Amino acid sequence: MFYIDCPHCGRRPEDEFAYGGQAHVAYPADPSALSDQEWAQYLFYRDNPKGSYRERWVHSAGCRKWFNAVRDTHTYEISSTYLGAPELTDAPEGVTT
Ligand SMILES: [Zn+2]
Repeated sequence: MFYIDCPHCGRRPEDEFAYGGQAHVAYPADPSALSDQEWAQYLFYRDNPKGSYRERWVHSAGCRKWFNAVRDTHTYEISSTYLGAPELTDAPEGVTT
């Protein structure tokens, strides 16, 4: 058991949360203009780094609000949680968005 700091509720047990995938995946500006391959790339292809990774989480058994977290995929340690826009273009160095 580990704990996650919900930006709204504070530190809560991990079993109150659900994983939501990679954070900051921008929705296509014109989805109808995408080829099938580009659409599949948007829907199914995500980064898979070993190290810091920005993710979406939802406090499903608490406030039910979404937020972002920076988690190390190797150690599973969550170094920070934050609110923010789904698209981020200025990620800190070494953090995959
Ligand atoms: Zn919460």
